[in-house]
Amino acid sequence: LVYPADPKHQHQYRNNEQQQTPSIRVMTWNILAQALGEGKDGFVQCPLDALNWAERKYLILEEILTYRPDILCLQEVDHYYDTFQPILASLGYHSTFLPKPWSPCLDVASNNGPDGCALFYRRARFSLLHTSHLRLSAMMLPTNQVAIVQTLRCRETGQRLCVAVTHLKARSGWERLRGAQGADLLQSLKAITSRAAGSDPASRGPGGGSGTEGVPLIVCGDFNAEPSEDVYRRFMSSPLGLDSAYKLLSADGQTEPAYTTWKIRPSGESCSTLDYIWYSHGAFTVDTLLDIPTEEQIGPDRLPSYHYPSDHLSLLCDVSFREPRDQPH
Ligand code: NDP
Ligand code: CA
Repeated sequence: LVYPADPKHQHQYRNNEQQQTPSIRVMTWNILAQALGEGKDGFVQCPLDALNWAERKYLILEEILTYRPDILCLQEVDHYYDTFQPILASLGYHSTFLPKPWSPCLDVASNNGPDGCALFYRRARFSLLHTSHLRLSAMMLPTNQVAIVQTLRCRETGQRLCVAVTHLKARSGWERLRGAQGADLLQSLKAITSRAAGSDPASRGPGGGSGTEGVPLIVCGDFNAEPSEDVYRRFMSSPLGLDSAYKLLSADGQTEPAYTTWKIRPSGESCSTLDYIWYSHGAFTVDTLLDIPTEEQIGPDRLPSYHYPSDHLSLLCDVSFREPRDQPH
């Protein structure tokens, strides 16, 4: 696989296993809600011009269309109906959108509606079996955060997979809430992947031990949590058998990137790893990963900028189904 050349990125990780079936390209990106970027975030080093939607939207679309992912998970989408849904539909994507119940965008004058999560997939590659729109709970109480989960069927091979996108509660001081939201999401994912497997004979039977009884899973999103947080540990150690794809970019294969977001607010500079692509490691191999731009590429004013339209970086990987004989024991 050779990606189009893009001066912003290079490819660092490539698994050298032979490909039997075409891999699945997955992209996740917190694209920065337009109302929040202009009205709430306070990116003091970002020129106001760089936040102008009429131009910024083309940078976002350019990045998506450079890579043409098969599955696209977006967070902070507040231009779904007028931009992403119609444009990506014309390019062959099916999509669904779930706004936050009380989007902070609505507090901004001249907002474009609530922000939320959106999940897109290429119709040529998948058919849709099931969609769940989840409002995440914490300690039984509904929260302001959501997730979309879809069960897809590969048109070419008939294999099933579940894909989820979420955007957990932001800010420090909310670690326990994120942990509880993560636990709630994991519980829903367990139910959805088991149910999907129940109607799919290919997903039952001995599949290499724990974590592979359900339909294989990919979970993308802005978890608003560093790898040291409880919610990260919960995902890492869940019975769903998930692992984080971007660890494979590191020399030891065990370390997350140093940052997935980097911004300067009046309160100071914030450089952190908050975004993840989780995958069922019993069912998928990660074949390629899009590298994270260097500090020099990002530049001294950090994100967003004239070159990078969001304060978060996009994550992108190619995964493929393991052959049954390759499944780990
Ligand atoms: P979050 O705390 O999860 O954050 C919302 C957005 O703010 C995120 O997209 C986040 O971006 C961004 N953000 C994070 N840190 C900062 C920062 N330091 N400065 C500016 N923006 C930041 O929001 P909630 O979903 O909990 O909603 C909170 C807001 O929603 C309230 O402030 C209120 O405006 C509104 N609200 C209104 C209610 C009502 O009854 N009307 C009820 C509930 C909420 P990222 O994820 O990229 O970090
Ligand atoms: Ca944000």
